[in-house]
Amino acid sequence: MPATPAWPPRSLPRLFVRSALAEGASVALDQGQANYLGNVMRLGEGAELLVFDGESGEWLARIAEAGKKRMTLSVERQTREPEIIPDVWLAFAPVKRTQTDWLVEKATELGVAKLLPVMTRRTIAERVKLERLEAIAIEAAEQCGRTRLPEIEEPQPLTRFLEKRDPARRLYFADEAGGEPPASAFKPGLAIIMTGPEGGFTDEERASIRAAPSAVPVSLGPRILRAETAALAALAAYMTVAGDWR
Ligand code: SAM
Repeated sequence: MPATPAWPPRSLPRLFVRSALAEGASVALDQGQANYLGNVMRLGEGAELLVFDGESGEWLARIAEAGKKRMTLSVERQTREPEIIPDVWLAFAPVKRTQTDWLVEKATELGVAKLLPVMTRRTIAERVKLERLEAIAIEAAEQCGRTRLPEIEEPQPLTRFLEKRDPARRLYFADEAGGEPPASAFKPGLAIIMTGPEGGFTDEERASIRAAPSAVPVSLGPRILRAETAALAALAAYMTVAGDWR
């Protein structure tokens, strides 16, 4: 006899909403979300979906009113508690727009808690648009089942990043010039993974990062990885050794 399928089925659409969720709450969707559910997914009144607000886990909701441009949901019951995300941040030198978008999407899927764009001497990124990165993180969280969004900080220069960093949070610095392998370097606890730009860090930058308190240079193997590959490889290795893949 087939096992009883989990309820609600995983194929329900999942949306991030900006209003606080609770049993019986009514949620007005924005025009983009109403258009997605009504015109793309072809859902009307009575249809079920999953919603999350980044704070209170995940909820089963139902479309209560479906207009041409507006839609209201009625929240029925909680389906998941907020998940525990490893407290690992990614400080990365932004790269070109498409690669930065990709990095943000994949880092969100991998479970990063915070993203910190850090501008270095050789960073050649176009202007970093936070709103765009937030939208990408929201879409990735909707798709991968996260109930919390990663925070995304305003870009900051490397010097400021190093000055204001709390040394209680270990700084794992991906150094293509050599370092400890991830298997021994990464330890559970507060962590920042830091990766450089396409042209790498300057010698001076590398020296100041290495000299920062609780900085641990990490090697990602014998090949030079592209900046976005390095960031995601380091994050995946962290999740395996010290994060929530253990
Ligand atoms: N400096 C290099 C060059 O132009 O030859 C390349 C820099 S690499 C494309 C971009 C960043 O990815 C580096 O600054 C470093 O943080 C990280 N990275 C790439 N490969 C790595 C490796 N094998 N070990 C550690 N970090 C690496």
